[in-house]
Amino acid sequence: MKYLFGPVNSRRLGISLGVDLVTYKTCSLSCVYCECGETTELTSKRAEYVPTDDVISELDRYLSGSPTIDFVTFSGSGEPTLHSGIGRIITHIRENHPRYSIAVLTNGTLFSDPVVRRDVAGADIVIPSLDAVSPEVFDRICRPAAGITSDKLIEGLAAFRREFSGKIFLEIFIVPGVNDVKEELLLLRQACLDIRPDRVQINSLDRPGTVDWVEPAEKGLLHSIADFFRPLEVEIIGRPASRAGAGPNADNLVKSIISILRRRPSTIDDLLAALGPDRSALELALDSMIASGMVTVEKLERGDFYRMV
Ligand code: SF4
Repeated sequence: MKYLFGPVNSRRLGISLGVDLVTYKTCSLSCVYCECGETTELTSKRAEYVPTDDVISELDRYLSGSPTIDFVTFSGSGEPTLHSGIGRIITHIRENHPRYSIAVLTNGTLFSDPVVRRDVAGADIVIPSLDAVSPEVFDRICRPAAGITSDKLIEGLAAFRREFSGKIFLEIFIVPGVNDVKEELLLLRQACLDIRPDRVQINSLDRPGTVDWVEPAEKGLLHSIADFFRPLEVEIIGRPASRAGAGPNADNLVKSIISILRRRPSTIDDLLAALGPDRSALELALDSMIASGMVTVEKLERGDFYRMV
């Protein structure tokens, strides 16, 4: 599969089939914590980065097999709303595969454009991120393309909230020492009150980020921040619940591993959760991929992370 990946066991969406609409790595931000690595194509220009018709054909082929998945999720190695065909693809899934829910993981930077808001309006859940409000902290964490500001981002998300009847889960990624100070948290809380998401999700480093100075936040800090945002509905993003054996791809283990590791570094437990319960088959496949130089291992607090070379 060229544009689809997984299904992966998502921390928020259960079994999720990923759809990647941009070429690696095209984004309007270059976040310091990004698990996909440095943004090489930093842009806010919408375009047909991959052929819309080819994505639709691949989705039709895959979904016509009635796979056991919870969500079709637009995410991957960049910002999906940069793709000018995302609206047509969402409409196609809605009309032709209505049993599947649709999620869009987005950085929200293009939502000041009414066309973008209309394009994603057919989703069931939209998960935008907002990591900072003050310009200096926003620039330090998100390193945006020219013309993108936190003010425009917040206005765009607030406008989307007024128009969108689905769920909005607003993610705030905590970078200790940068956006966990009281002044920034006060601004973020006010922005959440303005945007009115259904839920605020507090996230922290779980996989290797793009720069090495970003540290995971301590659990105690995340709980204090969650308390600070209440009475808004708020949760701390946890590890995925295990629902093994999800994918028709599990029979082609190496290809499935590649499709996951190309998008995000993963531990063996992450891979087990996504691909099925056969640990020894997975370990053998990873060993041979390391031996052939396809994959490297990085030790982090949560375990050994495998990533594509
Ligand atoms: S975290 Fe998301 S928004 Fe930030 S650089 Fe990575 S893909 Fe882009």
